[in-house]
Amino acid sequence: MNPSCQIRGRFAPSPSGRMHLGNAWTALLAWLSARSRGGAMILRMEDLDPDRCKPHFARHILEDLSWLGLDWDEGPDVGGPHGPYTQDERRDLYQRCLDELAARGMVYPCTCTRAELRAAQASQADAGAGSGDVADDGAPHSGVTQAPHAGEAEPVYAGTCLRLTPEERSARQGRGRGAALRLVVPRVRISFTDRVLGPQSQELAEECGDFVLRRSDGVHAYQLAVVADDANQQITEVVRGADLLSSTARQIHLFHTFGWRAPDYAHVPLLVDPDGRRLSKRRGDVDLGQLRDAGASPQAIVGYLAWKAGLLDAPRRAAPQDLVDGFSFAPLPAGPLVVEHNWMEVVG
Ligand code: GLU
Repeated sequence: MNPSCQIRGRFAPSPSGRMHLGNAWTALLAWLSARSRGGAMILRMEDLDPDRCKPHFARHILEDLSWLGLDWDEGPDVGGPHGPYTQDERRDLYQRCLDELAARGMVYPCTCTRAELRAAQASQADAGAGSGDVADDGAPHSGVTQAPHAGEAEPVYAGTCLRLTPEERSARQGRGRGAALRLVVPRVRISFTDRVLGPQSQELAEECGDFVLRRSDGVHAYQLAVVADDANQQITEVVRGADLLSSTARQIHLFHTFGWRAPDYAHVPLLVDPDGRRLSKRRGDVDLGQLRDAGASPQAIVGYLAWKAGLLDAPRRAAPQDLVDGFSFAPLPAGPLVVEHNWMEVVG
């Protein structure tokens, strides 16, 4: 096999907003990890939620990544053997995967309303329960079709609809409730070694519960789509923000259920504001489009990020290619990294 095909890393942004420094950070590290080991870089647009993802944002993502000096071997603009590279065009694959799970008796309809889920969540909070996945009552909801990010509440589903009698089920459906589809999650512990964070382990039924595979309006869920895509596109390494760590056990469980090999995962620390909150696109000095329009240098941005990652011992301008030799995740700190308010002046 051609060595350049053994590692297939990917960057999978959601075109639900402009790129900001946090997206650039993850993209740079994913690119460096793949390139430093002679791997291929795959770019995939995760645009499943029609209400949030705007086509012109996908164009901005391509422009911003190229401007930073990153490139990719397969993607929506360059094509490749595992296309298409936008999720909107891959819905048949997700449905085939869902049909397979349904044929194996692993899927059930859930007609819980958002209010019912909220009430269950409140009682779980009282009881101190952990995280899971919010179902949807048909209205757009980012927690299912888009990756759940840190700070987004994810209650463990109580299994209400799994336990309904046939009469109760038809009574609910008779009230015109659309049904989401959930995976029956067995009692299983998923363990893996993250390339940045080390050994991880999650008791899936207790910590996640039965999670949504398809929204009640027919839109496939992030957790299913991303696994179907990573397997179909032969991704061997996923580098993404640490806020997605809580999704990984669910995804590995899906890989195992389908009999597929899961990729390696590297969850990199988040970039945060000085007050500890996630970077906001509203902060103009971290919006890549605004920075570009204002004449910022991409090498200053890449150099700043490389310094934050411990790849440079002092902040200075750098191109991504300068950082490939000897790249390692080892210097990355475990916790979030603060982006100072005057961060553009740091590199000069
Ligand atoms: N599309 C997701 C996001 O932008 C990334 C999901 C992933 O890398 O698995 O947050």
